[in-house]
Amino acid sequence: MSKICFGIDIGGTTVKIGVFTTEGNIVDKWEITTRTEDGGKYILEDVAASVKKYIADKGIDMADVVGAGMGVPGPVKSDGTVLMCVNLGWGVFNCAEELSKLLGVPVKAGNDANVAALGEQWQGGGKGHEDLVMVTLGTGCGGGIILGGEIVAGVCGAAGEIGHIHIVDPEDTIGVCGCGNTGCLEQIASATGLVKLAKRLVEETDTPTTLRDLEEITAKDVLDAAKAGDAGAESIVDILAKYLGKALGAICAVVNPEIIVIGGGVSKAGQYLIDKIQEAFKPIAFHALRDTEFALATLGNDAGMVGAAKLVLL
Ligand SMILES: [Zn+2]
Repeated sequence: MSKICFGIDIGGTTVKIGVFTTEGNIVDKWEITTRTEDGGKYILEDVAASVKKYIADKGIDMADVVGAGMGVPGPVKSDGTVLMCVNLGWGVFNCAEELSKLLGVPVKAGNDANVAALGEQWQGGGKGHEDLVMVTLGTGCGGGIILGGEIVAGVCGAAGEIGHIHIVDPEDTIGVCGCGNTGCLEQIASATGLVKLAKRLVEETDTPTTLRDLEEITAKDVLDAAKAGDAGAESIVDILAKYLGKALGAICAVVNPEIIVIGGGVSKAGQYLIDKIQEAFKPIAFHALRDTEFALATLGNDAGMVGAAKLVLL
């Protein structure tokens, strides 16, 4: 039997666990419930019990288990110390060390968005590239930076927090960001941002748009209408592209990646969205960076699990 490793993606409601060969082929995957009660103290015990049961059921020799990697929804230092994880009820402790004690194999941990970027770099939209920036456009805007095939975590695990770059002009700022600041990229470049911009368009302007006929507007409605040629909806996507293009121009000037991978629910708009972002990016990017490649993420919700497995192989 070839060597295997486990990729564990800890979310606020479920934990995804995957078994991978060291070449990155998935062997098995399943989910368990995240028990967040009592400060989340059962989470790692539950994960360890589930992994140990799998190892026993399959008759796997522990000598063939290289280790386990773990993605966590909060800031994680490169030594595995998590610095407060509100969704899980966790405070400050070394979660990698803790799980390693429970499992008896080496464990590494990283922030979930950073780990997802590593997954896309290893087996997804960024495969074959060592230097990558990933942006996840979901409910919020997450990010991860991979340089030389490794996660850039930063001193307090907050590197790659692209969504909280202060970049939005006052005229496009709607409300306050979840982080308490205003003008964060996430306020525009996210599903939530698209919906807010659509409401503003419908309620505060006379711009003709099919979005006006909808009772409840979703981000998908905005993207679908824009693709179908609705000028009002397109103006909203252009606002998203403008700020995301600007932020990516700045990020590229700092880390000069080979490729930018766009993921998350909003990225289901596909090449249309990539074209929009590139149209905004090219004119403002430094000349040597203008041809930076853009690609869509391909792993969907599995990216975190895949990247977690890679983490322990680095
Ligand atoms: Zn923010």
